[in-house]
Amino acid sequence: MSASADMLHVDVMDGRFVPNITIGPPVVKSIRRATRLPLDVHLMIVEPERHVQAFVDAGADIISVHAEATFHLNRLLGEIRSSGCRAAVAINPATGLGAVEHVLHMVDMVLVMTVNPGFGGQRMIEEALVKVSELRDIAERRGLSLDIQVDGGITEGTVAQAALAGANVFVAGSYVFGAVDPDDAVARLKLEAGKALAQKS
Ligand code: ZN
Repeated sequence: MSASADMLHVDVMDGRFVPNITIGPPVVKSIRRATRLPLDVHLMIVEPERHVQAFVDAGADIISVHAEATFHLNRLLGEIRSSGCRAAVAINPATGLGAVEHVLHMVDMVLVMTVNPGFGGQRMIEEALVKVSELRDIAERRGLSLDIQVDGGITEGTVAQAALAGANVFVAGSYVFGAVDPDDAVARLKLEAGKALAQKS
Protein backbone atom coordinates (compact mmCIF):
# COMPACT_ATOMS: atom_id res chain seq x y z
CA MET A 1 0.00 0.00 0.00
CA SER A 2 1.38 3.40 -0.94
CA ALA A 3 2.36 5.46 2.06
CA SER A 4 2.36 8.64 0.03
CA ALA A 5 -1.27 8.50 -1.06
CA ASP A 6 -3.62 10.74 0.93
CA MET A 7 -6.60 8.44 0.77
CA LEU A 8 -7.61 5.08 -0.56
CA HIS A 9 -10.25 5.06 -3.29
CA VAL A 10 -12.33 1.88 -3.37
CA ASP A 11 -14.36 1.09 -6.48
CA VAL A 12 -17.53 -0.84 -5.73
CA MET A 13 -19.19 -2.25 -8.88
CA ASP A 14 -22.38 -4.28 -9.05
CA GLY A 15 -22.48 -5.70 -12.57
CA ARG A 16 -25.58 -3.57 -13.27
CA PHE A 17 -24.63 0.11 -13.09
CA VAL A 18 -21.34 -0.92 -14.66
CA PRO A 19 -20.49 -4.18 -16.44
CA ASN A 20 -17.92 -5.32 -13.91
CA ILE A 21 -18.42 -6.71 -10.41
CA THR A 22 -15.91 -5.94 -7.68
CA ILE A 23 -16.31 -5.90 -3.95
CA GLY A 24 -18.84 -5.28 -1.21
CA PRO A 25 -18.97 -4.17 2.42
CA PRO A 26 -17.06 -7.17 3.91
CA VAL A 27 -13.99 -6.35 1.83
CA VAL A 28 -14.25 -2.65 2.67
CA LYS A 29 -14.33 -3.70 6.32
CA SER A 30 -11.12 -5.71 5.85
CA ILE A 31 -9.43 -2.80 4.08
CA ARG A 32 -10.50 -0.56 6.97
CA ARG A 33 -8.57 -2.80 9.35
CA ALA A 34 -5.49 -2.75 7.11
CA THR A 35 -4.98 1.02 6.74
CA ARG A 36 -5.32 4.31 8.57
CA LEU A 37 -5.83 6.22 5.33
CA PRO A 38 -9.29 7.69 4.80
CA LEU A 39 -11.43 5.29 2.77
CA ASP A 40 -13.09 6.94 -0.19
CA VAL A 41 -15.79 4.52 -1.33
CA HIS A 42 -17.08 5.05 -4.86
CA LEU A 43 -20.39 3.26 -5.30
CA MET A 44 -20.95 2.33 -8.92
CA ILE A 45 -24.14 0.51 -8.12
CA VAL A 46 -27.83 0.94 -8.86
CA GLU A 47 -30.09 2.00 -6.00
CA PRO A 48 -27.18 3.00 -3.76
CA GLU A 49 -29.68 4.00 -1.04
CA ARG A 50 -30.16 0.30 -0.31
CA HIS A 51 -26.50 -0.23 0.55
CA VAL A 52 -25.11 3.05 1.87
CA GLN A 53 -25.54 2.11 5.53
CA ALA A 54 -23.60 -1.13 5.05
CA PHE A 55 -20.64 0.86 3.71
CA VAL A 56 -20.92 3.37 6.55
CA ASP A 57 -20.80 0.44 8.99
CA ALA A 58 -17.85 -1.06 7.12
CA GLY A 59 -15.82 2.05 7.88
CA ALA A 60 -16.09 4.36 4.86
CA ASP A 61 -15.02 7.98 5.44
CA ILE A 62 -16.28 9.36 2.13
CA ILE A 63 -19.11 7.83 0.09
CA SER A 64 -19.70 8.76 -3.55
CA VAL A 65 -23.01 7.94 -5.18
CA HIS A 66 -23.79 8.40 -8.85
CA ALA A 67 -26.40 11.00 -9.78
CA GLU A 68 -27.54 8.57 -12.51
CA ALA A 69 -28.11 5.70 -10.07
CA THR A 70 -30.75 7.10 -7.73
CA PHE A 71 -34.08 8.89 -8.05
CA HIS A 72 -33.71 10.75 -4.75
CA LEU A 73 -30.28 12.28 -4.78
CA ASN A 74 -30.90 15.03 -2.21
CA ARG A 75 -32.32 12.63 0.32
CA LEU A 76 -29.51 10.14 -0.14
CA LEU A 77 -26.76 12.75 0.21
CA GLY A 78 -28.45 14.03 3.35
CA GLU A 79 -28.49 10.50 4.74
CA ILE A 80 -24.79 10.00 4.02
CA ARG A 81 -23.91 13.23 5.80
CA SER A 82 -26.07 12.49 8.80
CA SER A 83 -24.34 9.11 9.10
CA GLY A 84 -21.13 11.03 9.80
CA CYS A 85 -19.48 10.31 6.43
CA ARG A 86 -18.45 12.91 3.93
CA ALA A 87 -20.82 12.87 0.96
CA ALA A 88 -19.87 13.03 -2.69
CA VAL A 89 -21.82 12.89 -5.91
CA ALA A 90 -20.40 11.30 -9.05
CA ILE A 91 -21.25 11.82 -12.71
CA ASN A 92 -20.39 9.74 -15.76
CA PRO A 93 -18.80 11.34 -18.83
CA ALA A 94 -22.19 11.53 -20.59
CA THR A 95 -23.92 13.31 -17.68
CA GLY A 96 -24.06 17.10 -17.60
CA LEU A 97 -23.52 19.34 -14.59
CA GLY A 98 -27.26 20.01 -14.51
CA ALA A 99 -27.60 16.67 -12.74
CA VAL A 100 -25.63 17.91 -9.72
CA GLU A 101 -25.91 21.71 -9.63
CA HIS A 102 -28.84 21.57 -7.22
CA VAL A 103 -26.96 19.47 -4.65
CA LEU A 104 -23.57 21.22 -4.61
CA HIS A 105 -24.32 22.79 -1.22
CA MET A 106 -24.94 19.28 0.20
CA VAL A 107 -21.69 17.63 -0.82
CA ASP A 108 -18.04 17.77 0.13
CA MET A 109 -16.87 16.57 -3.23
CA VAL A 110 -17.99 16.05 -6.82
CA LEU A 111 -16.46 13.11 -8.66
CA VAL A 112 -16.22 13.77 -12.38
CA MET A 113 -15.62 10.48 -14.18
CA THR A 114 -12.97 10.91 -16.85
CA VAL A 115 -13.63 7.46 -18.32
CA ASN A 116 -16.80 5.41 -18.55
CA PRO A 117 -16.67 3.50 -15.28
CA GLY A 118 -16.29 -0.24 -15.10
CA PHE A 119 -12.73 -1.15 -15.93
CA GLY A 120 -9.24 0.02 -15.08
CA GLY A 121 -6.58 1.04 -17.54
CA GLN A 122 -8.69 3.24 -19.82
CA ARG A 123 -7.55 6.43 -21.50
CA MET A 124 -8.87 9.71 -20.14
CA ILE A 125 -11.78 11.33 -22.01
CA GLU A 126 -10.43 14.87 -22.21
CA GLU A 127 -13.84 16.46 -22.87
CA ALA A 128 -14.77 15.59 -19.28
CA LEU A 129 -12.28 18.22 -18.11
CA VAL A 130 -14.50 20.94 -19.60
CA LYS A 131 -17.04 19.98 -16.95
CA VAL A 132 -14.34 20.18 -14.30
CA SER A 133 -13.54 23.78 -15.19
CA GLU A 134 -17.21 24.75 -15.39
CA LEU A 135 -17.79 23.16 -12.02
CA ARG A 136 -14.82 24.98 -10.48
CA ASP A 137 -16.26 28.26 -11.78
CA ILE A 138 -19.70 27.50 -10.34
CA ALA A 139 -18.19 26.56 -6.96
CA GLU A 140 -16.17 29.77 -6.86
CA ARG A 141 -19.15 31.90 -7.84
CA ARG A 142 -21.23 30.32 -5.07
CA GLY A 143 -18.41 30.49 -2.53
CA LEU A 144 -18.37 26.71 -2.03
CA SER A 145 -15.13 25.03 -0.98
CA LEU A 146 -15.76 21.99 -3.08
CA ASP A 147 -13.32 19.18 -3.74
CA ILE A 148 -13.38 18.13 -7.38
CA GLN A 149 -12.17 14.60 -7.95
CA VAL A 150 -11.24 13.10 -11.28
CA ASP A 151 -11.31 9.35 -11.76
CA GLY A 152 -10.09 7.51 -14.85
CA GLY A 153 -7.00 7.66 -17.00
CA ILE A 154 -4.98 9.76 -14.56
CA THR A 155 -1.28 9.40 -15.31
CA GLU A 156 1.86 11.51 -15.18
CA GLY A 157 0.83 12.73 -18.65
CA THR A 158 -2.76 13.79 -17.82
CA VAL A 159 -2.72 14.91 -14.18
CA ALA A 160 -1.48 18.43 -14.97
CA GLN A 161 -4.36 19.02 -17.40
CA ALA A 162 -6.86 17.86 -14.77
CA ALA A 163 -5.28 20.09 -12.11
CA LEU A 164 -5.34 23.10 -14.42
CA ALA A 165 -9.02 22.47 -15.14
CA GLY A 166 -9.73 22.75 -11.42
CA ALA A 167 -9.55 19.22 -10.02
CA ASN A 168 -7.82 18.85 -6.66
CA VAL A 169 -8.38 15.16 -5.88
CA PHE A 170 -6.91 12.62 -8.29
CA VAL A 171 -7.74 8.94 -8.42
CA ALA A 172 -5.09 6.75 -9.95
CA GLY A 173 -5.37 2.99 -10.28
CA SER A 174 -3.45 1.30 -13.06
CA TYR A 175 -0.84 4.06 -13.18
CA VAL A 176 0.07 3.52 -9.55
CA PHE A 177 -0.47 -0.20 -9.13
CA GLY A 178 1.14 -1.00 -12.47
CA ALA A 179 4.27 0.92 -11.52
CA VAL A 180 7.43 -0.78 -10.34
CA ASP A 181 7.43 1.60 -7.38
CA PRO A 182 3.87 2.70 -6.48
CA ASP A 183 5.06 5.27 -3.92
CA ASP A 184 7.23 6.86 -6.54
CA ALA A 185 4.29 6.91 -9.01
CA VAL A 186 2.12 8.78 -6.47
CA ALA A 187 4.97 11.21 -5.80
CA ARG A 188 5.33 11.89 -9.53
CA LEU A 189 1.58 12.56 -9.89
CA LYS A 190 1.71 15.02 -7.02
CA LEU A 191 4.78 16.69 -8.49
CA GLU A 192 3.19 17.11 -11.94
CA ALA A 193 -0.07 18.46 -10.47
CA GLY A 194 1.87 20.83 -8.23
CA LYS A 195 3.99 22.13 -11.09
CA ALA A 196 0.91 22.80 -13.22
CA LEU A 197 -0.76 24.74 -10.42
CA ALA A 198 2.39 26.75 -9.67
CA GLN A 199 2.55 27.80 -13.33
CA LYS A 200 -1.12 28.77 -13.32
CA SER A 201 -0.84 31.11 -10.32
ZN1 ZN B 1 -13.66 5.20 -8.75
